[in-house]
Amino acid sequence: MKKVIILFMSLLLLIPLSSCGKKQEKVEIVDDNYRNIYEIFVASFSDSDGDRKGDLNGVTKKLDYIQEMGYTGIWFMPIHRSPSYHKYDVVDYYSIDPDYGTMEDFEKLVEEAHKRDINIIIDLVINHTSHLNPWFIQALDAYSKGSFSQYLNWYNFSDSPQYGYAEKDGVYYEARFVDSMPDLNLDSREVRDEIINIMKFWIDKGVDGFRLDAVTSYYTNDINKNVEFLNWINKAAKSIKEDCYIVGEAWTSDIEVRQYYTSGIDSFFLFSLSQGEGLLAQTVKADKPIPQYKNALRNALSIANGYIPAIFLDNHDTNRITGAIGRTKTEDTKFAYGLAAMLNGTLFTYYGTEIGMVGSRKDENKRIAMLWDSDKMDELCKNPQGTTQEEYAYPGVKQQQKDKDSILNYHKQVNYLRNKYPEIARGEYEVANKLTTATFMAFEKTWEGKTICIAINFDKANSTTVDLSELQPYSNCESVSAINEKAELKGTALTIPAYTIAILSGE
Ligand code: CA
Repeated sequence: MKKVIILFMSLLLLIPLSSCGKKQEKVEIVDDNYRNIYEIFVASFSDSDGDRKGDLNGVTKKLDYIQEMGYTGIWFMPIHRSPSYHKYDVVDYYSIDPDYGTMEDFEKLVEEAHKRDINIIIDLVINHTSHLNPWFIQALDAYSKGSFSQYLNWYNFSDSPQYGYAEKDGVYYEARFVDSMPDLNLDSREVRDEIINIMKFWIDKGVDGFRLDAVTSYYTNDINKNVEFLNWINKAAKSIKEDCYIVGEAWTSDIEVRQYYTSGIDSFFLFSLSQGEGLLAQTVKADKPIPQYKNALRNALSIANGYIPAIFLDNHDTNRITGAIGRTKTEDTKFAYGLAAMLNGTLFTYYGTEIGMVGSRKDENKRIAMLWDSDKMDELCKNPQGTTQEEYAYPGVKQQQKDKDSILNYHKQVNYLRNKYPEIARGEYEVANKLTTATFMAFEKTWEGKTICIAINFDKANSTTVDLSELQPYSNCESVSAINEKAELKGTALTIPAYTIAILSGE
């Protein structure tokens, strides 16, 4: 009897992750920094203790979901103690905000995530602190009194008004964003030592990397100094942990982002590909999509220049992509994600984007509660105070999991393909120019001696059949379709439905 039970249990474990009845085999995750990363705002994500404030234990409860969806990393927006709802102003870099839980909760979360091949990166906000940070309180006090404090040179003070400075009791201090966020003096040796200590502390807790907030503001309007500082921080991080992944937020032009990449930091977000105006959404909206998509393919790699492109459609600061594309344009919303996912690099997905959540204008609206179950709205996290849009364009996770045509199941299939074919994120690509038409293109990607072909039909309505005989032979075809049909390969003839992406592999 015992043997039978064991056999039964192991069979259960072998049953592949299934999506809408369709079998998906279990995929081995390549352990590098080309990942599918899921961005989480903890406060709005998942609550574990009934106070309707999202917390770390709530995230731990959802790790199976995150894994099943094919995400292989999580980026946490700031988790440190902070007086604001968004927590981008830190009071204690060595703490977990009590609203989110305890250090033990975090350690447990990291452990459970790693068991599931999910890496953890955390937001590191070092351009500024909270004005309630004890460093600032002591520094301001010392400067006002003309007395000594070890923190005196951690911030920039002045007796007279300066551009970019705030004032308190006749003392001026640099605060580029708002008065409550004094800028750190990144030239201070002690501040830099402290940053190293902070990184060590969190790497010891098991984190795999950091997302650097607002790097263009480190030294405002001085890109050379920013690059120099980023080069320093990158070396410092890598000397603690060789494969520590760092992604910087440089919200600026492609030309400047390219310059930021010379710092040696692994990744910078490619804003020009993101949002409603970005290259990916524009590809979906364009009459002539192919030239746009070719630009996206090329730009991602050329801007990153040997490092890792950081691809995303939306994040906590931008209007959500579903609204930007059009909240009734389900196929377009899906296809934009499919196109993003076929680019080289690390792919970031903002929580809720996989179910077509919307939110625009005020930041609070972009950070509302994750919709787990449309039938249990009273169990969702509370939205941030000041939210003015609280509606959802599509049903919740539970409902979409049961619907094979849902945005969620589309994202899941796309992530699965990205995980199954490591060439997609890492390969050198070559466009099969002879096969390109106004609405069809194919390109091959080669990585570690293996080549696959990615074929895309951009036509919104019509299926097409293409003769692939000029390419190397392929025997296997998997596809993901925004209209939920399937591509078929017979010999060298590929029949690919409208709005479908096919991956061809095998000799
Ligand atoms: Ca809670």
